Amino acid sequence: MTQKIIIAGSGFAGLWASISAARAIALAGKEGEVEVTIISPVPTLAIRPRLYEAVLENMDPDLTALLAAVGVRHVAGWVESVDHGARTISVTATDGSHRTLDYDRFILAAGSRLFRPDIPGLAEHGFEADQLETAYALDAHLKALASRPDSDARNTVVVAGGGLTGLEAATEMPIRLRAALGQDAGFRVVIVDNAPEIGAQFGLDALAQITEALAETGVESRAGVRVTAMDADSVTLSSGEKIATNTVVWTAGMRASDLAVQLPGDHDALGRVIGDAYLRAPAANGVFVTGDTVKVPTDDLGNYNPMSCQHAMSLGRVAGHNAAAELVGLPLHPYSQPKYVTCLDLGEWGALYTEGWDRQVRFTRDEGKKIKQEINTVWIYPPAADRDAVFAVANPDFMIVP
Ligand SMILES: Cc1cc2nc3c(=O)[nH]c(=O)nc-3n(C[C@H](O)[C@H](O)[C@H](O)COP(=O)(O)OP(=O)(O)OC[C@H]3O[C@@H](n4cnc5c(N)ncnc54)[C@H](O)[C@@H]3O)c2cc1C
Repeated sequence: MTQKIIIAGSGFAGLWASISAARAIALAGKEGEVEVTIISPVPTLAIRPRLYEAVLENMDPDLTALLAAVGVRHVAGWVESVDHGARTISVTATDGSHRTLDYDRFILAAGSRLFRPDIPGLAEHGFEADQLETAYALDAHLKALASRPDSDARNTVVVAGGGLTGLEAATEMPIRLRAALGQDAGFRVVIVDNAPEIGAQFGLDALAQITEALAETGVESRAGVRVTAMDADSVTLSSGEKIATNTVVWTAGMRASDLAVQLPGDHDALGRVIGDAYLRAPAANGVFVTGDTVKVPTDDLGNYNPMSCQHAMSLGRVAGHNAAAELVGLPLHPYSQPKYVTCLDLGEWGALYTEGWDRQVRFTRDEGKKIKQEINTVWIYPPAADRDAVFAVANPDFMIVP
């Protein structure tokens, strides 16, 4: 009887898990004996790392040809729940029908979402750049600002959160506002974070570059404060300052998919399952966790994977390989990813490329930007639908880092 691997999610982790599983099945000469299926709303890869950009084009490349080339089936729907004891999942298809599917191995690759805390006005008035639909909503809002009467609130954007996403969204915003409001429009962009200095968490080296980039791109900082409330025309900070704005972009905080939270076993504060070295969910037999749904050590030095595309692509390969390996009798591959880099886009200043967990600055400005553009337009995109070429880069050891 055909065995079944089902993967929830066609993001970076789910895509690479499916290819890596198909590769392992082919390696073992068991094609036709194990079927690989991805379930997600649409057979596309949402390029979440680019959703802060000024021009939202080609942000959801189609995976249909690629999945067909490696023999992976796609089912359009949402996984609602997992019964790991019965080895079944319940699925709502995009046509609204419900069904229960059984599996031999299930890979949870349903990713994460931005977390919105219970701040008055945030649910109704906060914008975000986290998912395709919310990024398009922010874009439409920015483009429509010009049709509003000129005012301080119209001309001011406040970005809440000074992490990677907040810094990228804030430093890109002057480009977007110039396009929306006109070259000579007077506008303000303000970034707010409760850290003592915006960018402090990236270390002193990187902080100096970030401070320079914020100054050069004209982004004002409010450090050491929190957003306490907002409405359609203003945001209030914990310092008591009230800033007139029609646009608050919320970027602070992520949570793993609810499906991760539902799984038994230990979780971290972001809702991620604490996985074992092979990316199995230790308390749910037959279930693998990958991408933004898992927390595991990346090395022997006490570092853990952040929620990142860089890690999701490697975690996906390892989870896919191991799920298939258990079924076809290949050795399992432990997850390890000692090299860590970050490439932070800082708008017209350029980009900041760092290496290591202590974020040593390697490239800045134009040199950094060239790397960022390569990452954002080539490396994280799905490869061409060529089975042999794709299998060659789908082994669990393969890592995309400069
Ligand atoms: C603005 C922004 C900038 C970023 N910048 C960077 C960066 O510079 N570098 C970096 O490394 N990372 C960056 N990230 C983080 C990165 O995008 C995520 O860590 C990465 O997308 C995680 O990949 P994933 O496959 O685990 O999940 P996702 O990419 O979130 O994919 C999840 C998939 O699961 C599907 N899904 C969700 N729920 C279900 C369900 N119930 N059933 C079926 N399918 C489901 C979704 O439709 C999607 O296909 C950024 C993120 C954002 C938002």
